[in-house]
Amino acid sequence: MLNIIIFGPPGAGKGTQSAKLIEKFGLKHISTGDLLRAERKAETELGIQASEFISKGELVPDSVVVGMVENFMAANTESKGFIFDGFPRTIPQADALDHLLEAHKTRIAIVLGLEVDEDELVKRLLARGKESGRADDQNEDTIRNRFSEYNAKTQPLINYYKSQDKYTGVDGMGEIDRIFEDLSKAIFKLNGSAGL
Ligand code: ADP
Repeated sequence: MLNIIIFGPPGAGKGTQSAKLIEKFGLKHISTGDLLRAERKAETELGIQASEFISKGELVPDSVVVGMVENFMAANTESKGFIFDGFPRTIPQADALDHLLEAHKTRIAIVLGLEVDEDELVKRLLARGKESGRADDQNEDTIRNRFSEYNAKTQPLINYYKSQDKYTGVDGMGEIDRIFEDLSKAIFKLNGSAGL
């Protein structure tokens, strides 16, 4: 299995690059943001509870997102591998993911970090909000809070994965196709991915 984490702050381009990576490497996409939005749309109990956190720009509790990822993986055991997008976002989520993968007799191969300036991120999020109607991309207070959650709880994962020798940072500014090439090169450099 080839399991990849696509990492970066809100608006870094994780979803865009995930779509391209999935196509190229035949992976399954797990986006906790998409899963949460689907629950919200279906007005499930989980979705209703998560809405409060999402609209304030806060992280949804770890147990909720870990449970969703666990269910998704259990339903897709035949997959060649997963690309985790927007997950993990905290150290406890990363620990839970390591255990989950161990239970499936696999592990994370690489963490690809998209590096983008904060000014550019705010611009992208506001533009995305106008296009998609996503409420959490239209409110500047919510956006600011998502960055502060990212800086406090998610950014420490860079050192977590650096200490496991798994983190590769990629310049996430500029052309979508150039960024995708850089990401693909980093994957091809991995030992054991030659057969892909
Ligand atoms: P973005 O990366 O642009 O913030 P996402 O779609 O990944 O967009 O996430 C939207 C919101 O969903 C987050 O602000 C957060 O409230 C919630 N969320 C998504 N993934 C997680 C996660 N792994 N842990 C906690 N909350 C999450």
